[in-house]
Amino acid sequence: MLKTYQYEQLSAEDIDRLTLRNTDPNNAIQDTVEQIITQVEQNGDDALRQLALKYDQISLDALYLDEAEIEALAATISRQQQRALEIAFQNIHKFHATQLKKERTVETMPGVTCWREVRPIEKVGLYIPGGSAVLPSTLLMLGVPARIAGCKEIVVCSPPQKDGKVNGFIAYCLKLLQIKRIYLTGGAQAVAAMAYGTESVPRVDKIFGPGNQFVTKAKSLIQSRTQVSIDMPAGPSEVLVIADESANADYIAADLLAQAEHGADSQAVLVSTSSTLIEAVNQALQQQLGELPRAAIAQKAIENSYAICTTDITTALAFSNKYAPEHLIIQSDDWKRLVYGVQNAGSVFLGHLTPESVGDYASGTNHTLPTSGYARSYSGVSVDSFVKKITFQQLSQDGLRQIGSTVEILAELEGLQAHKNAVSIRLKDLES
Ligand code: NAD
Repeated sequence: MLKTYQYEQLSAEDIDRLTLRNTDPNNAIQDTVEQIITQVEQNGDDALRQLALKYDQISLDALYLDEAEIEALAATISRQQQRALEIAFQNIHKFHATQLKKERTVETMPGVTCWREVRPIEKVGLYIPGGSAVLPSTLLMLGVPARIAGCKEIVVCSPPQKDGKVNGFIAYCLKLLQIKRIYLTGGAQAVAAMAYGTESVPRVDKIFGPGNQFVTKAKSLIQSRTQVSIDMPAGPSEVLVIADESANADYIAADLLAQAEHGADSQAVLVSTSSTLIEAVNQALQQQLGELPRAAIAQKAIENSYAICTTDITTALAFSNKYAPEHLIIQSDDWKRLVYGVQNAGSVFLGHLTPESVGDYASGTNHTLPTSGYARSYSGVSVDSFVKKITFQQLSQDGLRQIGSTVEILAELEGLQAHKNAVSIRLKDLES
């Protein structure tokens, strides 16, 4: 089932091709998204209503649900489901709360004091996917760090469901996060609405959240057109599993399918030192796939996936670093030795008993992660994503005397006389 390659037979070009994903070769997605963005920028709420009809097949009057409607929806889920969401909330909170650390004040020269202070981004927009599956877990993954950071205004958008609402799980997460409104808009139009603002949807300073290729493209376009920034490109989900002879084929197949069921454009890659294991995984995939409710979607994603057989685990890791997966699973007894060699990955799952699903929901780490190779340069969402770190400095008389001549010389060599004067005028006063 998984197309299999022998690593030694791959050329450098083959490897480049295999590590490339989610491209938009004919700009089809970009063209659609450009049109949607223009529509929302020009026609605001009217455009959001038209696009909800076109893409979500729903005719909307109000474009948001208020606190009373959220309360009512939240009450529709069972106590057991509420409890599971609460445990996920608590673990995510526990892990993220440690991320806000006060930094040391540094005296770079006697009397020259520098430090950084953290300030929340005031208005943030959270996109919660709701196309092929509704993801309340994403609301916790974005809402918890936003709350810890202290963001003043949290705008949440998610596609309206068939009944013109969001489901009870999203509603319960809104309650846990004390967010009193949710906007019923999805896809590129939600991103455009938060970037430009509409009659209903407030404009924000930064947009967060994963989504399909339309959402991801919209985020990258608005970033270059407005002053609104984004967390990262977090597109269709992907996993790379590194496995040696110690791995369990059934576990690997289950992990690959857990990604594959996200969407037909998801990718699940297996890199193994054992061709026997790859064969066993293929058999397990066939068996497990048939039992999945989302088998058709997962099947398409598996067709878009592959396995690579390497001679040793170091080569497997080198390929993974080149691929830079959103999720990396290392199923080997030797996982401790390999941690140090992981250079590029969004989030890593170690050993035989750490399925990637635990990170998706409840271990505490964030599941909003860079895809399509962006893990080479981006980190996943954290509290840091929701704050700015502002530098401060203060000079005493001694400090100005210590650093003054250095700055005067550097300003002069750059030909910036006014810069030099700003120091000289003060030094002169100190001397007189
Ligand atoms: P989504 O909410 O991202 O997208 C649904 C919206 O897309 C719809 O409301 C509609 O407005 C728009 N849309 C659908 N078809 C369109 C078309 N032909 N033209 C224009 N707009 C269109 O939900 P989804 O589609 O289920 O995708 C969620 C994605 O998020 C999946 O690919 C999943 O893998 C990914 N994901 C990524 C991460 C991460 O951290 N990288 C985490 C979770 C999920």
